[in-house]
Amino acid sequence: MTLNDPNGHVVRGPSDADALLSRISSWVDTQYSVKKALEHFRLGHAAAAAAAAARDTFLSRRANERFLELHRDIGEECGPGSRQHSWAAVETREEVVMYGPYYPDYASGEHSEDLVIRQTEELLGAEGARVRGFGVYIFTQNSPCLDRDTQPCMLQLVEKALEWHAVYGVKIHIGYAKCWGFKGNKEALFRDVDFAQLECVGGNRDHESYVEAVRKRPEGDLNALSEDVFSVVRRTLAVGSNNLKFSLRHATPEQINGKSSFKDTLSCVSEGESQIEREALTQEMNAMTEAAQELVSEGTPRNLEEHIERGQTFAREYGFTSQTSEAARAEARLAFRRCWRDMVEGRYAEFVRDSLTDDFNRCVTHLFSQDVYPLQGYSFFAQRTVLR
Ligand SMILES: [Zn+2]
Repeated sequence: MTLNDPNGHVVRGPSDADALLSRISSWVDTQYSVKKALEHFRLGHAAAAAAAAARDTFLSRRANERFLELHRDIGEECGPGSRQHSWAAVETREEVVMYGPYYPDYASGEHSEDLVIRQTEELLGAEGARVRGFGVYIFTQNSPCLDRDTQPCMLQLVEKALEWHAVYGVKIHIGYAKCWGFKGNKEALFRDVDFAQLECVGGNRDHESYVEAVRKRPEGDLNALSEDVFSVVRRTLAVGSNNLKFSLRHATPEQINGKSSFKDTLSCVSEGESQIEREALTQEMNAMTEAAQELVSEGTPRNLEEHIERGQTFAREYGFTSQTSEAARAEARLAFRRCWRDMVEGRYAEFVRDSLTDDFNRCVTHLFSQDVYPLQGYSFFAQRTVLR
């Protein structure tokens, strides 16, 4: 089983298929490959990863242009936005057959790639010899998944590409717009990275002192992150956490008016007041929360301190009606400030988690592409970010 001959040329023939299958076999073991990818992610520099993503050109320029043309043809049917969908095109001697878009049905565990694979198989079977030597273009908005209860779409597609190449003599091109990594936004690696973790990671130079700091906290307060996760979080923070700008837009009304924060604080504020005052105060707090929605939905990216400051100013300047007592107003302002700070810090941590997940997913998809890329000369499988 040889990948390259001594002159560096890609060897063609059945052994290439074996080589490819053996290369991707480690990806079948998700736990192992997550660990491997995380190590790689940790060692890689953020800047280098971003640069790699920008020139993630595993697809030949010609195939990429073909994708863009096809996308223009089918684009309108897919509608705006980034909702997951797949479509494909099979070239034959006489025509180009396009089909899709297909959408996933998560209730039944069906990914859009399942549908596109099934449809492609049917079509190739029907067209037979007329497709020999031509191309099959499979597009999926998010790169095919690498983790799933049944066989992940990415591995399924590689296997199918090999099979179709052998049986029908077609070249398979796979394109996508967004790197999905193992399981996209459901990636759980960074789930525990909340604001308290960020503070703790930021305050400790190395993993050892961080673990020590976690140990000293009230019991069960924080679970220590693994060394790999610690390192990548620390790296993200080192990039200038004070200047990480994020938008509050994702914050839901529940987060502002959340059970755990605002309403709870509110019920404390209203203790000891008369029924009428309590009702008036409830109304005030609701109106205040409503007004604060504008601060959130405005959506301008700001850094942590700027966001917090904005909430403080709002609380200070908010005009209450005359129905509430001065003491209740002061408490309401305080309650709002505390709740606002919680919300901003929560959103900040969410932003960091999302960035880490995006970067990690890019790294994973890139790593997988690199594994199958050396066999591109054989040309049945190639990929890159196609559409922006
Ligand atoms: Zn999938």
